[in-house]
Amino acid sequence: MNATRAAEHRGDAGRERRLAHVLDRGGFTLQPASRAASEAADWAMAQTPSGARLLVVPSATHAGLLADFDGERGDHDGAPFLVGPPTARNAAALRRHLPWLEPRPLPPGTSAGFGDRLGLATPGHVRALQAVGGSIAPVFAQQSIREMTRTARSPQAVIDDATWGSFEAGWQEGQGADADHLKTTADITACADAGFTMYTIDPGEHVSRDADTAAPGELRAAWDALPWDRLEDSPASLRARLAGRAFDLEGESVQIDEGALVKAAVKYGRAVAHVTAMFRHLSAVMGGRPFDFEVSVDETDTPTTPAEHIFVAFELRRLGVRWASLAPRFVGRFEKGVEYIGDPAAFDADMRVHAAIARAFGPYKISLHSGSDKFSIYESAARHTRGRIHVKTAGTSYLEALRAIAIVAPELFRSVYAYALGRYEEDRASYHVSASLALAPDADGVPGGDCAALLEHFHVRQILHVTFGSVLTARHADGRPVFADAIRSTLQAHAEVYAGCLERHFVRHLRPFAGR
Ligand SMILES: [Zn+2]
Repeated sequence: MNATRAAEHRGDAGRERRLAHVLDRGGFTLQPASRAASEAADWAMAQTPSGARLLVVPSATHAGLLADFDGERGDHDGAPFLVGPPTARNAAALRRHLPWLEPRPLPPGTSAGFGDRLGLATPGHVRALQAVGGSIAPVFAQQSIREMTRTARSPQAVIDDATWGSFEAGWQEGQGADADHLKTTADITACADAGFTMYTIDPGEHVSRDADTAAPGELRAAWDALPWDRLEDSPASLRARLAGRAFDLEGESVQIDEGALVKAAVKYGRAVAHVTAMFRHLSAVMGGRPFDFEVSVDETDTPTTPAEHIFVAFELRRLGVRWASLAPRFVGRFEKGVEYIGDPAAFDADMRVHAAIARAFGPYKISLHSGSDKFSIYESAARHTRGRIHVKTAGTSYLEALRAIAIVAPELFRSVYAYALGRYEEDRASYHVSASLALAPDADGVPGGDCAALLEHFHVRQILHVTFGSVLTARHADGRPVFADAIRSTLQAHAEVYAGCLERHFVRHLRPFAGR
């Protein structure tokens, strides 16, 4: 629809001439994919000696819209245009005038989250989406509060970087924005103010670590101590609702006997109460604005059993929570940045039941967290969910940035890697990784031409993956960043190399899910 509208307005010869005039000024290089036309104006992005610039060329009847933008005004034969910097105000104005840049809730089919810790990856993500040609709905702005803290970025900066990246790459098919792994109501408020449309609640701290190994007496005591008031429930009514029930899920029966119910309630009851409180806070904060709600228990110690998934879905629904997607903790290990560790056949059986539960109690999407680089299970995940899936990746785009740097600036890559080796033991604490320093090669021992090959190395990938925050915020004694500016300027100077790395890497992720 937007593309058609854009085409209709391409014929405005006056605007075309003025845009050509702006570009004729020395040092302006048009980003061809960014060209867009609306009823009001022609729009484009150009690289200039002072960085990326927004070009706005309004129709004679819409010259007033330039007041919405910061920048340098000019005129050509008496008709105005504007050359503006990529500021937050300009990003907000651009989203108002080009509505396809405004984040919105996702459609029900396959979607993919592309975390982007550096804020420079969206053009490469767009290229991968276009290359697979399917109908995968993207989330370009996606960061957890943990990532924003570690990279010193604000929720608004995360949204704005995705706005500029998708504008530059000419993506007009819509996009979501995921405030990922939120843990507190304050997180929600900050992200709602910035315009996020998807809210991923991580109640992991409220999931009991002991339920799976507790003795029956301990389970009973923990059951009695559940927050029954916050659950708006009593032990007797929960038993009456669920104990002894059998759920028929597309031919497979899942029994919830008394023991399974007690264990599920002890393990996930507090998480259900927390998610409910977060949902109610979010609904109030959004005040009628639509949003996607995701429940993620992926970062917990033990797998979510089918009975536990049913318990969570049944109880959240009773409490009025409405969600678009849910991320169970699957069998096997979903470690950061590397292939699935476990038996793909066991994953296949697990995914089959979880997908059936999501259809029976929703339908809602199954969300695959730490979803990058798990090539051995994508086909299974796509098949069982029948396309109702969200695949979430985050750090793998940062690893592709380091691959691009290894190709064009091996010395910079070596110094980042050496620093990461020194930070790994401390930084790994909050991540699911198993890399060992003893098994990682030395930074100095690798010839420049071989640096990019390190990005195929299990231990190197994980070490680089979890140390991003230390690397991006490291400072010299005088306060200057040690790596962040060099990484960003190298990627900007070699934007084509970075986009190429991302496209190649993400095509492999998206293809198994495209066209479902
Ligand atoms: Zn996650």
